[in-house]
Amino acid sequence: MAKQSTKQAPLGLVVVGAAGRMGRTLIRVIHEMPGAKLAAAVERKGAAEIGKDAGELAGVGANGVLVTDDAAKAFAAGDAVLDFTVPEATVAFAALAARAKIAHVIGTTGLSAAEDAEIAAAAKKAVIVKSGNMSLGVNLLAVLVRQAAKALDADFDIEVVEMHHRHKVDAPSGTALLLGRAAAEGRAVDLSEASVRVRDGITGARRRGDIGFATLRGGSVVGEHSVLLAGEGEVIELAHRATDRAIFARGAVKAALWTRGRKPGLYSMADVLGL
Ligand code: NAD
Repeated sequence: MAKQSTKQAPLGLVVVGAAGRMGRTLIRVIHEMPGAKLAAAVERKGAAEIGKDAGELAGVGANGVLVTDDAAKAFAAGDAVLDFTVPEATVAFAALAARAKIAHVIGTTGLSAAEDAEIAAAAKKAVIVKSGNMSLGVNLLAVLVRQAAKALDADFDIEVVEMHHRHKVDAPSGTALLLGRAAAEGRAVDLSEASVRVRDGITGARRRGDIGFATLRGGSVVGEHSVLLAGEGEVIELAHRATDRAIFARGAVKAALWTRGRKPGLYSMADVLGL
């Protein structure tokens, strides 16, 4: 009797924002990762890359998948969507993915509270994984930050410092906010009440328990984050440096593979990585 194969068909991934920095990296990573294949590549209406070969765009050679602006048709051909675009597009894609009954992996950052609420509503009917950072390293760092913030009381001032390339449009970064949230959880406080995102002019002395953010922008920096815990006479620094966008892309593909057979809900990368 023939041995029954337990091998699953590769997961068909739809990359939206296919021509972007992360979109191209995703196409490259999907090309290299077993268990996944590129089902479709989507860009915004009017983008110069519509009709071009997605593989060529990403530098891995022609793969026959042509970039399209018809998201609904693309979603019908896939099992999961990988989305690193802009907040407005991500909200629309969440509704579309729920309708197509496929999983939605969201890496887009800078969503407003109202946009986040729309994502949460879509997750009642669909599997959504959303994280401001899809890398293993940063999600592990968040665990360490939570621990450190819990172990040290408010005698230690917490500051999150980040630097990104000159093209980044939102601040603080999604990762800085993720790390700030981890610190707030460790301290059992609400980040929205404790966070200080900007300082300018005569600000007065630092308020005990505040979680501060500082943003640097320049050059081609992929992403650098430090969480400082500054006490009297000593400073602890927990840091992560990304040197290759592929770490986010690999995490996103891993998240998509993880969604197979999951119940609808809003999941994080910590869920995917079991942290
Ligand atoms: P980018 O500007 O290079 O790419 C975004 C792409 O989305 C562009 O090609 C744009 O044309 C496309 N787009 C915009 N609207 C669209 C629409 N309606 N339909 C289809 N495509 C559309 O930006 P990037 O550096 O690739 O980053 C994208 C997002 O991902 C940002 O929010 C960034 O902060 C975030 N990001 C997250 C992580 C993470 O791990 N979560 C890592 C890196 C970047």
